[in-house]
Amino acid sequence: MSSRGKKQGSKIKPLEVVKYGHPALRSKGRKVEKIDDSIRSLAEEMIVTMYEEDGCGLAAHQVGRSIQLAVIDVMAAFEDRPSRAWIEGRELELESLMPLVMINPEIYPVGDEKSTEVEGCLSMPGLHDEIERPSRVRVVCQDLDGQTLDFEAEGLLSRAAQHEVDHLHGILFIDHLPAESLQEHQSLLRKFQAKSLGF
Ligand SMILES: [Zn+2]
Repeated sequence: MSSRGKKQGSKIKPLEVVKYGHPALRSKGRKVEKIDDSIRSLAEEMIVTMYEEDGCGLAAHQVGRSIQLAVIDVMAAFEDRPSRAWIEGRELELESLMPLVMINPEIYPVGDEKSTEVEGCLSMPGLHDEIERPSRVRVVCQDLDGQTLDFEAEGLLSRAAQHEVDHLHGILFIDHLPAESLQEHQSLLRKFQAKSLGF
């Protein structure tokens, strides 16, 4: 997901973010079976890329790798779009969870409340629209140590987690738009597509 703010000072080089039209974005990601050094360094490179691109989330698919791995950091956007998180009913210091690495995540809505907010995507720069999603979700995933992380989230963290987990299943945020809104974005989408296909 796209956002604002940047962290600096890393020597790790950012990766190229693929754009709409790249086949990886429409594939279902393979499960990560073993969390080894290659997964750890990919996660690090993805975090650096997310900061470099001013994003608040990035899925492996967006760097051309179709596996169940995504990273999130919602701190830079906190003032405009706050988040909250809980583990076993106890609220967490949000910063302790960031940057968040989600491996093999599963996501479940909590309650019936929905919220509509603007989203963007690093694979579709300049395209923004309002998307309705469940307000609160439970996320169950593994961290880089292979430990299970089971938390509930609201606000931008909830939305970013839903957006990134969608990516891991080949779903893009524009898939949630009604047909008439999607129509308004067609010319921009065609431009991304032409570039991805090398026209
Ligand atoms: Zn995205």
